[in-house]
Amino acid sequence: MTTSDDTSHIHPPERSRQPFQAVAMPVERASTIVFDDLEAFETRAERVYDGFSYGLYGTPTSRLLEDHIARLEGAARALVVPSGMAAMTLATMAVCRSGDRILMPETLYGPARDMILRFLGPLGIAAQSYDPRLDAGIAGLLDERTRLVWVESPGSGTFEVQDVPAIVAAAHQAGALVAADNTWASHLLFKPLAHGVDISMQALSKHAGGHGDLLMGSLAVRDEGLFRRLKDTARFLGYGVSPEDCALCERGLMTMPVRMRHAAATAVEIVSWLSRRPEVTRILHPAMPDHPGHAVWKRDFAGAAAVFSIVLRPELAPLQNEVLRRMRLFKLGASWGGVHSLIAVNDPRKGRTSLDWLPSGPVWRLSIGLEALEDLIGDLEQAFAPFAEFATASKAVGRRAAE
Ligand SMILES: *Cc1c(COP(=O)(O)O)cnc(C)c1O
Repeated sequence: MTTSDDTSHIHPPERSRQPFQAVAMPVERASTIVFDDLEAFETRAERVYDGFSYGLYGTPTSRLLEDHIARLEGAARALVVPSGMAAMTLATMAVCRSGDRILMPETLYGPARDMILRFLGPLGIAAQSYDPRLDAGIAGLLDERTRLVWVESPGSGTFEVQDVPAIVAAAHQAGALVAADNTWASHLLFKPLAHGVDISMQALSKHAGGHGDLLMGSLAVRDEGLFRRLKDTARFLGYGVSPEDCALCERGLMTMPVRMRHAAATAVEIVSWLSRRPEVTRILHPAMPDHPGHAVWKRDFAGAAAVFSIVLRPELAPLQNEVLRRMRLFKLGASWGGVHSLIAVNDPRKGRTSLDWLPSGPVWRLSIGLEALEDLIGDLEQAFAPFAEFATASKAVGRRAAE
């Protein structure tokens, strides 16, 4: 059949599909999907969970990534969504209905706490914060309305380690599900489903993406029924992921173990350097033997991520901006898990009642990237100069006052 020029712009000549075998994940784009016959078209909704019915509900690229995440999480099924935050909203909305109650640790990712309180609260879903150190004691907060318990271990910013198996046992006893924000450890260092958690969530934007240029989140579950509830909710919310982003995420996954191990080894050296600095009064890192959650971390985790916090002497607070501006390699930024080293400055005391143990003073969260150790220490050393001058000057003042 010969076609007009207009039609030829839309239909390239047919070409046989010879096998093309690349090691990279193929990127297949689609909103529209077409079908061979009427029966296939009319039954397309049945393929929402596994096959292909419309680009929004899954492409060969997104399904491959989901299968990969499921395998890495030790899950039956996994779902990828546009961000870690989207994953948290999705998991919570899929499980909870008006009249239900959520328990969330005070350390839960801040924007998710906001979403639960300010978005789901007015929809009739109640939430109560709990001290992340409660562990088995959470049994005292569970009631018959409690549908979901969130955990985040270690917690954002202050790195309390939670006894996840103990929380799971109490929650299941009371008929509640447990969802874990496992972004810090990722599936590589902690497998929530193996510890009884029902929904394992991670922000793939962090360690998996790994280069500060990708937004994606995942949910992994053991149970097909729960997967379908999540998938339905994702459909109702109109969540979809682009195949380019999936391929970027897959590319990140391939190097993730090597990047994480390298950054963790660098972080250990930086922690050791920081622990000798007079400016630093406390290091919040689960791998430190004096960390309160160290024993549970050692029991449950296969290692540590290169993300931890330090507490500075309170009198150094006015010098923070000057010191941060002097940093050449460490950038001021809230994310983590990428090749670039970052520092985030957040006051974890805001809105918390369980921080009596934290010494006063500014809290900095460091995410160690893949720059060379000596360059990172050199950067901290030169940037810390105003701190050191201040300490020397205040010591001199102290000496004069004592005389
Ligand atoms: C970054 C992050 C999120 C949110 O992920 P986004 O992809 O940025 O939306 C959730 N939880 C934790 C612990 C995070 O660090």
